[in-house]
Amino acid sequence: MSERYAVVGHPVAHSLSPLIHGLFAAATGQDIEYTKIECALDGFAATVEGFRAAGGRGLNVTVPFKVQALQLATRPQPAARAAGAANALRFAAGEIEAENFDGLALVRDLTHNLGTPLAGVRVLLLGAGGAARGALRPLLAERPAVLVVVNRDVAKARQVVGELGHEPRARWCGYGDLGDERFDIVIDGTSASLHGELPPIAASVFAPGASAYEMVYGKGLTPFLRLARQAGATRLADGVGMLVEQAAEAFAWWRGVRPATAPVIERLAVPLA
Ligand code: NDP
Repeated sequence: MSERYAVVGHPVAHSLSPLIHGLFAAATGQDIEYTKIECALDGFAATVEGFRAAGGRGLNVTVPFKVQALQLATRPQPAARAAGAANALRFAAGEIEAENFDGLALVRDLTHNLGTPLAGVRVLLLGAGGAARGALRPLLAERPAVLVVVNRDVAKARQVVGELGHEPRARWCGYGDLGDERFDIVIDGTSASLHGELPPIAASVFAPGASAYEMVYGKGLTPFLRLARQAGATRLADGVGMLVEQAAEAFAWWRGVRPATAPVIERLAVPLA
């Protein structure tokens, strides 16, 4: 019988995870069943327990349950602890292991898929929610010259940078404090694009030839990416590569085999026009 996996969220109908994991399973010859579980807002723990009791082997976790997923874990892994949230669970030997692959996936997409090295460059990260928090340490591990976290709620930006401890390359500020600073890579880790909004940045944050990365995927040329293009950014990307890379990490964690991501990214990519 196929081993069972699923993505759990609310809402989850739009999730591409079943398609992605189905493509991975076909490409690697793994015999798995992967479904979507729409979970009541107050029913996450019971849903996970029911899935596990029925023999389920692992879950991807999406909005709004990532923090609860970490809290349920009996074995939280370091990246999930650092992010304060988990996006993947694995059930083995009576334990609930929790991982967070979002930050690793972002870095892999930037450096490996898009050829945008982070070492020695100036990085601006918009947002201080779960996605930005998970991205911070993996980004810093690439040794950028500076990494500035900017958020509407400045206290949240201060908190996430403060949690890093002594990290001279990381700073935080509010949008109004950016002045005329310019950055080589600007990453939109906010959910503004989901509502067709633009985070309050000026075109001047983009250095000549900058790269712009939008974590939201599948929305084409978002207001953020449009501003980046107008400002002269030469490389634009949305988060489809990050989505597929985090799925590949989870698949490898569960199954012990890492699928190729390029064909899946190519299949899911929406033109940025
Ligand atoms: P959260 O809800 O935790 O955080 C949302 C963030 O967006 C906050 O920093 C919030 O600022 C900011 N924000 C929202 N609206 C605006 C706006 N109009 N202008 C400026 N800032 C705004 O969400 P997550 O961190 O979990 O996710 C962020 C985005 O990243 C989501 O849209 C999600 O789709 C995407 N994502 C993509 C992934 C991928 O694989 N490609 C993986 C994970 C996330 P404030 O605190 O001031 O309210």
